[in-house]
Amino acid sequence: MKVAKFGGTSLASAAQIKKVCDIVLADTERRLIVVSAPGKRDKNDTKVTDLLIALAERYLAEGEAEAELAAVVARYRDIACGLGLSEEIVHVIEADLRGRLELDRSKPEMFMDALKASGEDNNAKVVARYLQSQGVQASYVNPKDAGLFVSDEHGNAQVLPESYENLKTLREQEGILIFPGFFGFSPSGEIVTFSRGGSDITGSILAAAVKADLYENFTDVDSVFSANPNIVDNPQPIQELTYREMRELSYAGFSVFHDEALIPAFRAGIPVCIKNTNNPSAPGTMIVFEREGNGNPVVGIASANGFCSIYVSKYLMNREIGFGRRLLHILEDEHLSYEHIPSGIDDISVILKDDKIDAEMERRITERIRTELAVDDIVFERDMSMIMIVGEGMRHNVGTTARAAGALARAHVNIEMINQGSSEVSMMFGVKAVDEEKAVRAIYEEFFERKEGREEAAKEAVSYR
Ligand code: ASP
Repeated sequence: MKVAKFGGTSLASAAQIKKVCDIVLADTERRLIVVSAPGKRDKNDTKVTDLLIALAERYLAEGEAEAELAAVVARYRDIACGLGLSEEIVHVIEADLRGRLELDRSKPEMFMDALKASGEDNNAKVVARYLQSQGVQASYVNPKDAGLFVSDEHGNAQVLPESYENLKTLREQEGILIFPGFFGFSPSGEIVTFSRGGSDITGSILAAAVKADLYENFTDVDSVFSANPNIVDNPQPIQELTYREMRELSYAGFSVFHDEALIPAFRAGIPVCIKNTNNPSAPGTMIVFEREGNGNPVVGIASANGFCSIYVSKYLMNREIGFGRRLLHILEDEHLSYEHIPSGIDDISVILKDDKIDAEMERRITERIRTELAVDDIVFERDMSMIMIVGEGMRHNVGTTARAAGALARAHVNIEMINQGSSEVSMMFGVKAVDEEKAVRAIYEEFFERKEGREEAAKEAVSYR
């Protein structure tokens, strides 16, 4: 049995939904299908989820949002009409949305999640209806009936362990099952969504629960590429990645697969295949436990902006018991989670997400660190980008850091920070956000285009082994 998840662009229009259904029907093992809400039909379009957020926001603010409601209904009408379905399904969807708007507005996050989740929920009903209209035995699955229970963290749900046992029974059900992605139910019965892009998470949970042979994640690219195609021209496609490599790459901006979605599949040992709805015969990218090396220590280069760093130095910091704990405690008091903590003998940097800290918070944190920890120096730096170089092969290869640092030096990019993860599957360089693209290009060139560099590395690796 395969679980196949289709993303928003794969389901953005009637024509796309037809392609999806052809893909589903082309393989009898594809029995559990997870769908996103309709996404963008073209660059300037708006995702249904974003239309729903606008609808909920306006309704919360003004108790009225007919124009926003009409915009959502129009998207489904367009799809239903293109699929040759009757107007009745559009009425069902409109009634469903009006029903959700009647919900209690005194808890805005709950209200928002109920609206957001309708995008996938109604799309799953449309896809099931279409398959039925084609004479296929298909049915919509309500995540509540199926037992997908999650924590009550609105917009950031975490799956509860009992869900796996409940969802296992989907294996026994007849026909093709269409399961809406992106949300589950709290134990008290409220709709709670995962973080944005979370239909990937639903797919992974289902694949783990039913012990699928494969979790196929259909999107709009042929494969995962070794660098962002908007930064590097024609980056090499990646045929195979380990879970750890994919986790590092998706953390640092490879949005093709949600980083939280790997965990359920990884724990259950389900291989994941990223494929293209618009080119299903392309082999795609496989995500697996182990892969053969191909001579290149690096498999991909990712980059993400929106980071800031708090650099703190204090003479003899290494001997001061509890320094790190007290520093992190100040951040905890502000409800901040940190991303990385590279450290030296007398200094430590904490890397955080920029958008979580406003100017007032920055002032408070700086003040507390200065006075409570009696530091010699503290520098708060914004607008940083992280460049992540990823590859299992780096563990067995000497000189990868030197090659990357050399490439950055030749491109005149100043390295603000270096962090080699303890797993040694990735290495991270902090650079100024303005240098991000230049840095990615320079490192890509070094590891994927400079033949001499690769040969030198291969020689080194052999002689140091
Ligand atoms: N529709 C949701 C979003 O746009 C979830 C998803 O597409 O995976 O975030």
